[in-house]
Amino acid sequence: MATTSATATLEINYINGAWLPGSSSTVTEIINPANQQSLAQIALSEEADTTRAIEAAEAAFPQWRTTPPQDRIQHMFKFRQLLLEHADEIARTTTQENGKTFAEARAELQRGIENVEVSCGMPILMQGYNLEDVARGIDEMMIRQPLGVTAAITPFNFPSMIPLWFLPYALTTGNTFILKPSERVPLTAKFIFELLEQTGLPKGVANLVVGAKPAVDTLLHHPSVRAISFVGSTPVARYIYGEGSMHGKRVQCQGGAKNYVVVMPDADMETTAKIVSDSAFGCAGQRCLAVSVALTVADSVKTFNEALLSIASKIKTGNGLEEGTTMGPVITQQSKQRILGLVEEGLNRGGDVLLDGRKYEGEGNFIAPTVISNIDASNPLMGSEIFGPVLTVNESQTLDEAIQVLSKSAYGNSAAIFTTSGAAARKFRYEVPTGNIGVNIGVAAPMAYFPFSGWRDSFMGVMHGQGKDAVEFYTDKKVVIERWPKEWSRKF
Ligand code: NAD
Repeated sequence: MATTSATATLEINYINGAWLPGSSSTVTEIINPANQQSLAQIALSEEADTTRAIEAAEAAFPQWRTTPPQDRIQHMFKFRQLLLEHADEIARTTTQENGKTFAEARAELQRGIENVEVSCGMPILMQGYNLEDVARGIDEMMIRQPLGVTAAITPFNFPSMIPLWFLPYALTTGNTFILKPSERVPLTAKFIFELLEQTGLPKGVANLVVGAKPAVDTLLHHPSVRAISFVGSTPVARYIYGEGSMHGKRVQCQGGAKNYVVVMPDADMETTAKIVSDSAFGCAGQRCLAVSVALTVADSVKTFNEALLSIASKIKTGNGLEEGTTMGPVITQQSKQRILGLVEEGLNRGGDVLLDGRKYEGEGNFIAPTVISNIDASNPLMGSEIFGPVLTVNESQTLDEAIQVLSKSAYGNSAAIFTTSGAAARKFRYEVPTGNIGVNIGVAAPMAYFPFSGWRDSFMGVMHGQGKDAVEFYTDKKVVIERWPKEWSRKF
């Protein structure tokens, strides 16, 4: 992404059923991170564009709210079909603007589609409950109602999946919705909205606004926005959680991460190393569930390291659309420099480089897999989110020690253990303070019908994204107590 003064811009926003460019006078280029080619020129949205989207969503709400859930889900059935029919084109767009491989882009879309599928159960999922005779002749019921205008602000690393953690649930519960995707990857969102438009949704029910801080601040401050979902880095999550809550909104914020994996000596080392390598270097390490530190317990270090280095050194870094590429570039040149800077800073404090991917040449933002070992607990590589293809391997003598080390992290997104011992696995599941746990799983990503959890600095809020939590997030509970004495009724 870069800003220039060129003029022709793409109609990137979808507001009240119409495609429009943003109103910024500066033009932003969307750059392919694999070759620095310009994919599109867009004008970002300002306060006025975002306000127009909020007003459109507000105007559409009364009609959409009264549309029966059974009718609302018909749009999602059509949407699912269209997403499947165009899956390869969407994935290609994602690879071009994000850099991940085509297979990774196709896989993330599939996880997004699963959320569309779950939302089709809304006529059952959003039912309340009731009880007759809470006192003699008095009945009580809880009904769920949509909130009104809702919005999601999403990051660059999963351009198709993360918007779909929110959009299907918001719409099928009867809310209207505004997506503010990452301004670094807006083309996937545009593609998805073009398909959504084909489902015949009424104008204003779903809106797309591509922008940066001015668009986000308008959503945070506008009184008509009732709920905001956010996924991105922890500092921005903290800002959005604070500001949104202060303005009376329901807010859920998924933040950054630092994920540990514990390798026990009884683990199957070949399989473990393969899965850990996929987790650390898949999507060039730009996954919020990517393993960043491997803690080898007791004598597992030697066999694990040998197997890991053998697998990681065979990863083929390159353009994600080219046959044979198994890892793409990182998102921007700035991101590459930030990652290299963090590695440099860490190595200045000690550590051995077991695999060095820092010297990767080429016009894209490439870093090849990098493995570092023997750093101490205070080294920034142990605590900071790197968000790039860098794995640190450190030794612990016991499982207790490994759990102690990973429990010091400020983050709590995910942790995993590799073992053949049920007792070790249970202890890990029981004691580790992260929201998602993997047992012999490298990327512990919850399925669409489970909440995408996250603790500590990785999550702010109460209800998570996906599944039943999403239904809870997008509805308000109303409790009704009724008395209808028969002597008040006319006799028939
Ligand atoms: P980011 O925080 O830079 O941006 C996320 C969104 O916030 C974007 O839409 C962006 O436009 C907006 N934004 C950025 N700065 C802002 C500001 N100052 N004020 C208002 N809005 C602002 O994150 P990113 O670089 O796009 O994504 C990577 C981060 O997302 C990583 O930290 C990663 O761990 C995290 N992430 C977390 C999860 C999770 O489930 N916990 C999932 C995916 C990504």
